[in-house]
Amino acid sequence: MNYTEVKLTLNKLNLRPKKHLSQNFLIDDNLLKKIILLSEVSKDDTILEIGPGLGALTEPLIKKAKKVYAIEIDSILYKFLSEKFSVYNNCEIINCDILKMDIPSHNKVISNIPYTITGPLFEKVFFNQAPSQGVLIIEKSITNRIFLTGSYKEFSRISVGVNAYLKPVLKHDVSRNSFYPAPKIDLNLIKLVPKEELHTFLLEKKRASFFLKFIAGIMPYKNKNIVNALVMFFKAINDNNYNKERISSILQEKNYGNKKIFSYPIEDLIDISSLFYT
Ligand code: SAH
Repeated sequence: MNYTEVKLTLNKLNLRPKKHLSQNFLIDDNLLKKIILLSEVSKDDTILEIGPGLGALTEPLIKKAKKVYAIEIDSILYKFLSEKFSVYNNCEIINCDILKMDIPSHNKVISNIPYTITGPLFEKVFFNQAPSQGVLIIEKSITNRIFLTGSYKEFSRISVGVNAYLKPVLKHDVSRNSFYPAPKIDLNLIKLVPKEELHTFLLEKKRASFFLKFIAGIMPYKNKNIVNALVMFFKAINDNNYNKERISSILQEKNYGNKKIFSYPIEDLIDISSLFYT
């Protein structure tokens, strides 16, 4: 879809793009081609598209994939898409909030994602025992967190979570003008592939959710040495089982030392979380 087609369609639907739903519609066919190429979609693939909008991305996906699930929260867009794609039988448009649903099984996520819910969306869609491949347009500031730079400023929950489950393989700059309306943030097109082997601690659901809680809990202290960070973490959750001496000796026993949180490799952080799992 180009600018004129998007404008015309929005007018016909009497729709003004909603900011709170991060509605920025793709109007750049070259970018569309790039997304499709990077996704390497074939008739073996079941695709999850989050926020299909006016269906710019959905249409080529339907033509190339075995099946497409397109999840759209906006009822007007849902109705429009259901009619537009009614002739295809390999596509299900679902009128739901992606954060509040049981997500259908799929092996690739392809999406110009709603930027305002990036963090929770990653957690819901990718952080599980069998993560999918992802080709996504995301906010540039998040890309800098995902592709680890070694700087503590850009080290965050999403850095650890994504790199625990996925391997970031590609990033490209994307112009704001590829969308209508142009968003007020810089964007990237990125590709993530599932890690070849998940850390065994993450293979069990309860342990995996403890890991995410643990990471969220220690991140506010990410520029501190790990012992102090853990002291503050356990204090904040009112857990009196771990004082400074006990934390130190648990870490010493496994030779983890007492470095700044952001300087530990992700696999070590998963190991460390497992030492405090009860
Ligand atoms: N993929 C389209 C539209 C991107 S705009 C394109 O590239 O042109 C983001 C889309 O996500 C909008 O259609 C918006 O309505 C939808 N959306 C926003 N929050 C959502 C949520 N929680 N669940 C599902 N869809 C959502």
